Amino acid sequence: MKKTLLLSVLAGALIGSAPLQADDHGVEYAMAIHGGAGTITRANLTDEQEQAYKDKLNEALEAGRAVLKDGGDSTTAVIAAIQVMEESPLFNSGKGAVYTWDGEHELDASLMEGERGNAGAVAGVKTVKSPIELAREVMEESVHVMLSGEGAEQFAKQQGLEQVDNSYFNTERRYQQLLKAKEKIKASEQPEQQAWEYLDLDYKYGTVGAVAVDKNGLLSAGTSTGGMTAKRYGRIGDSPIIGAGTWADNDSCAVSATGHGEYFIRFHVAADICSRVKYKGLSVSEAGDEVIHGVLEQAGGTGGVIIIDADGNVAMPFNTEGMYRGYFKGDGDTHIAIYNEEE
Ligand code: ASP
Repeated sequence: MKKTLLLSVLAGALIGSAPLQADDHGVEYAMAIHGGAGTITRANLTDEQEQAYKDKLNEALEAGRAVLKDGGDSTTAVIAAIQVMEESPLFNSGKGAVYTWDGEHELDASLMEGERGNAGAVAGVKTVKSPIELAREVMEESVHVMLSGEGAEQFAKQQGLEQVDNSYFNTERRYQQLLKAKEKIKASEQPEQQAWEYLDLDYKYGTVGAVAVDKNGLLSAGTSTGGMTAKRYGRIGDSPIIGAGTWADNDSCAVSATGHGEYFIRFHVAADICSRVKYKGLSVSEAGDEVIHGVLEQAGGTGGVIIIDADGNVAMPFNTEGMYRGYFKGDGDTHIAIYNEEE
């Protein structure tokens, strides 16, 4: 065989579409999750609360690890991890979701796969027990990317997904947050819109998300939320917006965001991070820092992201006081952190 032909055959084999082997992408599989960012300081959490969050984050990561270890795909792993958090009253997604101004729950979620850019999203759903599961149905079983409100509910019913009364998502803690938030807004000298800006971040955040790379090198990202406390009827945040709260592209990275959604939408934070990896050749941590501590911070936006690439590199930058977060790589140790100074 001629030397040039041999070289091109070899090159073809290297860049072909065969599944990546473990060695090709650093670790066999990896995952990172978040359970929201905000004013999370040691002073704000009791030891028991801290432990409860850590246990639940650990459970979510292990649910994802079980899928990935068995050779399952990253989308299934992302959903498994998110569903653990959706079912826990600790986080602002599914049960435990924040209340709207009118005292209801309107849930948003999205999912994206990095291989072909497949995506599914739902916004403003009130009776779907697992919004992230509905996002997958939209991605796989409909010709659309995003469904909202009653249309999304109708689709959930058609697909046989579990539906619950809106009160299923109620928790006393979130209800008290709504009452306090409304009090603060009403008592404020500021016009309502501005007063809302000054609410403690705690009142507002707590979204959950997961990103993963599987044994075939497929990246996926997912996010699920109740949005922000006392939000207006019909308000949609960044979490169901592909490119803002969720993004995955096998050539760069997968991202799930949490924070003040309006800013994440305006600066298409999740996609911007991956574009910096792709076109500027930055690492996930360099790209994450540029956007979270640069672009977002300069604009006055607060929050954070989890990022993973196909080699299993993980970054979790945030510009709030804390972010519930964790990751693992392959069979390695699970790392969980809450506060700012932790690794
Ligand atoms: N990003 C979410 C939203 O704006 C809130 C959060 O992350 O907690 O709806």
